[in-house]
Amino acid sequence: MHSHPEAADTLIVGAQLYDGTGAPPVERDVAIRDGRIAAIGNLSNWLAEEVIEANGRALAPGFIDVHTHDDTHVIRSPQMLPKITQGVTTVIVGNCGISASPVSLKGDPPDPMNLLGERDAFQYPTFAAYVEAVNAARPAVNVGALIGHTALRSNQMDRLDRAATAAEIDGMRAQLEEALSNGALGLSSGLAYGSAFSAPTEEVMALAEPLAAAGALYTTHMRTEFDAILDAMDEAYRVGRHAHVPVVISHLKCAGPSNWGRSVEVLKSLEGARRLQPIGCDCYPYNRSSSTLDVKQVTGDIDITITWSEPHPEMAGKVIREIAAEWGVTQQEAGKRLQPAGAVYHNMSEDDVRRILSHPATMVGSDGLPNDPLPHPRLWGAFPRVLGHYVRDAGLLPLEEAVRKMTSLSARRFGLAQRGEVHIGYHADLVLFDPAKVRDAATFEKPQQAADGIDAVWVNGVLAYRDGAVTGERAGHFVARGAASKGDAHGAF
Ligand SMILES: [Zn+2]
Repeated sequence: MHSHPEAADTLIVGAQLYDGTGAPPVERDVAIRDGRIAAIGNLSNWLAEEVIEANGRALAPGFIDVHTHDDTHVIRSPQMLPKITQGVTTVIVGNCGISASPVSLKGDPPDPMNLLGERDAFQYPTFAAYVEAVNAARPAVNVGALIGHTALRSNQMDRLDRAATAAEIDGMRAQLEEALSNGALGLSSGLAYGSAFSAPTEEVMALAEPLAAAGALYTTHMRTEFDAILDAMDEAYRVGRHAHVPVVISHLKCAGPSNWGRSVEVLKSLEGARRLQPIGCDCYPYNRSSSTLDVKQVTGDIDITITWSEPHPEMAGKVIREIAAEWGVTQQEAGKRLQPAGAVYHNMSEDDVRRILSHPATMVGSDGLPNDPLPHPRLWGAFPRVLGHYVRDAGLLPLEEAVRKMTSLSARRFGLAQRGEVHIGYHADLVLFDPAKVRDAATFEKPQQAADGIDAVWVNGVLAYRDGAVTGERAGHFVARGAASKGDAHGAF
């Protein structure tokens, strides 16, 4: 027991502390006791069961991956290697309109719910059942969850290529309310996908109505990220205004060569809207996207790499242009023959990626796809890539600002109480890393590789990862939506 007033479970000594708020680093010691930050300062008179010498390396709040598709992964692979090795201590699942719960399938999961797994992966007819399964799995990281609009449509509708009826919307709302009452963070949509594209804005607006009373938010993979992106952004703002809730635009990007360079006007639109309502966005630090293969996007103007194909698994790693040539067919025809399939699209400009990533409203989210056999390297590399490639090597933004985009900004936006800052009394989710060495090792050719320079990771005060190896301790759990703290409604993001 801790009878001594100055005794800690763990003492981290001599760190450059990046507290998550964006403040410049200061040299500090940090004490962890009973899963919380017990003290910050010069703690040379403290005792601890374990002392870690930081030797001037960076200590930051554990990173929050606000954009994941780890819904089933946190249960089936609770060690969560792709995330814990990056210093991620909390993942938010249920993005892009697809969530593992509440789901009752009638057959195979519709596209893109198949990104979360096959039919047998969907075992949670209620959100409460999902929460129970997460906690039973004891994942290495904390798990917050959004509820997917497409998942709700799939539960309530016989077909997804039409608008929901009033009765179907009532059914969806009842399921969303069950989830909110059990701590879900909000509603996500994936309006670009065929399974939700037929939903009019009014359907989403009606579904979003219960969010405000719960203090929840709306996130959206917008109806388009191509030429009509400004209209799609307006649609997202409209849902937020109607329901009086904060909006997060998911993986903000200017997709397709005809759209390159438009991040200037896209961010101008975002800034204009932010004067009127709470809005933020997330992005991943790469100029290629990834999802299921959408034949509409096979236009021949960009390269598209196949990552998996049910009928043609031998084509994984090849570009559609080559596959089409090999088969002697058009790229469109090749795309159709490969379905269902996964793809990496070479569809962004580097200038746009940098402009969006460095904008103060942007959070970092990996959008990693853990069930893909050849996943986009963002799954294992997104956070270290920002810290190494973009902060240290390219000088795009200060390290303390990058850390803020991965921690306090994310925790405030998503309502994760007492996380995202190194602050006395907060949960001890922490990462110790070497700013001179941190580097993403995952590449498009070899994507499943742990980053370099992440030295130690604590989740809820428990050391989960150290010197390139997991400790075997898995101290993560489901995290319910917390009470919004003061100043979060506006301005703070
Ligand atoms: Zn998405």
